[in-house]
Amino acid sequence: MNIRGHSKLKSTELLERATIVVPGGMYGHQNASSLPAPFPQFMRSGQGARVVDVDGNEYLDLMCSYGPVVLGHHHPLVERAAAAQAKLADCQNAPSERMVEMAEAMVATVRHADWAMFQKNGTDATTLCCTIARATTGRRRILMAEGAYHGAAPWCTPRLAGVTPEDRVNVGYFTFNDLESVKAAVAMTGDDLAGIIVSPFRHDAGLDQELVDVAFARGLRNLCDETGAALILDDVRCGFRLNVGSSWELIGVAPDLSAWSKAIANGYPLAAVLGSDRFREGATSVYTTGSFWFSSVAMAAGVATIEALRGEDAIATMVRMGEALRTGIALQAERVEIGIKQTGPVQMPYLTFDDDGRGNHLLADFFASKALENGLFIHPRHNWFVSAAMTEEDVEVALDATQKAFNAVSALMRSRATR
Ligand code: PMP
Repeated sequence: MNIRGHSKLKSTELLERATIVVPGGMYGHQNASSLPAPFPQFMRSGQGARVVDVDGNEYLDLMCSYGPVVLGHHHPLVERAAAAQAKLADCQNAPSERMVEMAEAMVATVRHADWAMFQKNGTDATTLCCTIARATTGRRRILMAEGAYHGAAPWCTPRLAGVTPEDRVNVGYFTFNDLESVKAAVAMTGDDLAGIIVSPFRHDAGLDQELVDVAFARGLRNLCDETGAALILDDVRCGFRLNVGSSWELIGVAPDLSAWSKAIANGYPLAAVLGSDRFREGATSVYTTGSFWFSSVAMAAGVATIEALRGEDAIATMVRMGEALRTGIALQAERVEIGIKQTGPVQMPYLTFDDDGRGNHLLADFFASKALENGLFIHPRHNWFVSAAMTEEDVEVALDATQKAFNAVSALMRSRATR
């Protein structure tokens, strides 16, 4: 791995230019201003499990574009399929046959799905799930877990600037994994419950991740069955990283509707809503569309992604690499006697430091910045993503960087103790 003196010259210069023509220079989840200083704002290229920033610094990639890259950057099968379609056309007067192929592939792959509709981003998909739930049930209220991320639309964005109370009048809240809190929220909705939206596990930014309690998931299913509301699984972040199928197939709970994006086309822009037959008529009745929603290149990439996920046993590879990484990190932390927690599925790891108070990520920030300077791209306040392009050698490279980062944290903690 290169990193001979981590440079940020070009990235800083680009950000200065961007600040003149882009509000704040950058926005949204990829805004590096909320990350420690060494993080670059702009990237140049990627191949397999490696990415290169605009200054030519190369990193082993454990963020995978915040999820979309599941097979590795520039996966040959996906690239070939996308290039072949691009030669024909991408954005046309009507969808190409790739749309039908992708819908067939999703319906064949995801057990609860009888039909599929496509969009671009995860927010499109989660919002459309709510709309279809309302159109089907004729009711208004949607329940979601407090602090959960379902996208950047007014009904769910975590920042309230520009959001009116009316945008959220029909949203209620419960606590993830706390069925009693859901029952209380359901009781408050009376007979107006359209749907309950939930992620496969709790992956709220900055908090230790929490796997789903099976009894909680089953309880949600029962509540929806009793009330006629839609159980909506937001599989945008986890979809096709935990399972080639819905993430809750692993625990035997079927949603009525599910939202997908990120990994379904290995980085090409595509989102999907999948649903069961009961919601087909409601889905047919809503007016939903977008200028680029039917572009064929991403759909061709999606079909190839599903084929490669299966053909290459990608989930098993991610589990193996994720387990090796987790074991290695645990050993390193133990050796330097630093208390840490590693939470979530191994393909979506997250690391917190016991000595970082709640909402305070100073050690995590410092650790991430040292890992970055040593060639590993991770995030201090967001779960990481393992891709199927990772090899045993890559895990060694990652662990070399985390070892150096732990050493730096250890030195920092010692210097704090002697002050
Ligand atoms: N739901 C979940 C669980 C997500 O993680 C995200 C994106 N981080 C979204 C919805 C929104 O997806 P997008 O950013 O593509 O709109």
